[in-house]
Amino acid sequence: GLGDDWEILFIQGGATTQFAMMPMNFLPADGTADYLDTGVWAHKSIAEARHFGNVNVAFDGTQCNYDHVPGSDEINQTEGAAYFHYCSNNTVFGTRFENIPDSDSPLICDTSSEMFGRPFDWDRHCAIYAGAQKNLGPSGVALVLLKKDFAEQGRTDLPSMFCYARHSKAGSRLNTPPTFGIYMMGQVFNWIHEQGGLTEMERRNSEKSSIIYDAIDTSGGFYTGLAQESSRSHMNVSFRLPTEELDDRFVEEAAAEKMDGLKGHRDAGGIRASIYNAFPREGCECLASFMKEFAARNG
Ligand code: PMP
Repeated sequence: GLGDDWEILFIQGGATTQFAMMPMNFLPADGTADYLDTGVWAHKSIAEARHFGNVNVAFDGTQCNYDHVPGSDEINQTEGAAYFHYCSNNTVFGTRFENIPDSDSPLICDTSSEMFGRPFDWDRHCAIYAGAQKNLGPSGVALVLLKKDFAEQGRTDLPSMFCYARHSKAGSRLNTPPTFGIYMMGQVFNWIHEQGGLTEMERRNSEKSSIIYDAIDTSGGFYTGLAQESSRSHMNVSFRLPTEELDDRFVEEAAAEKMDGLKGHRDAGGIRASIYNAFPREGCECLASFMKEFAARNG
């Protein structure tokens, strides 16, 4: 759904490099950019932007332990901001923006942990980026989408590898590109098309996540979701048990049943089930039935 007015770039260094490149190219030293602090990665992107200009934290999610993404009444925008940056899916706490936030300035989005997991209104944005390793391909490359008229406003007096204008002029072949990663992304994009595209990805992800959210909601309070219902991610389902000791036992016993990697990120605690595009529905069903059985034994 991207028209000819978009530049499509493959850039090395993952999404973290994009945290720095966006402000390097688009935030003047005397300018201000609005950022929504909605999670661990959004927080890191703010720290990177501060190297280059002023940041207005238009929403401070540390106050609510990142349990939701803000509605427009919670966002304090700067008039004339260079851009407005947000993270559409917060990997660690498991929240997402169901709707794109309203912004008066150019919208930039980090979609690393849900890119191509659902249809997206690209044209509301000026720049969108994603590290590859969740839904796209091997780690190390970022897919960067830039509206051409926005890209033209970027700085050109930068070292080449950090300058979008140069990447764009060279067709993402400014130096030797990470060929394997780009090739694999192509394979994954073809797979997505064959499965029915982004609408089908969203249908599957919505069903997959509901299976686990239902297990949380019908547990009579044994499991508590970390995210408020209206902000629930379809990619990362986070919850906790009544005690940390039970969290640990859950992780251990699940691993013995071959369900591994469920321990929540250290900043969030609890449990996190990451169920990206490649993760099958059967895995979610398996986890949900384990959750029911575990609650019956320990509740
Ligand atoms: N943004 C988000 C939302 C992420 O989930 C991650 C990685 N987990 C990053 C940025 C950083 O990505 P990378 O490791 O590719 O730099």
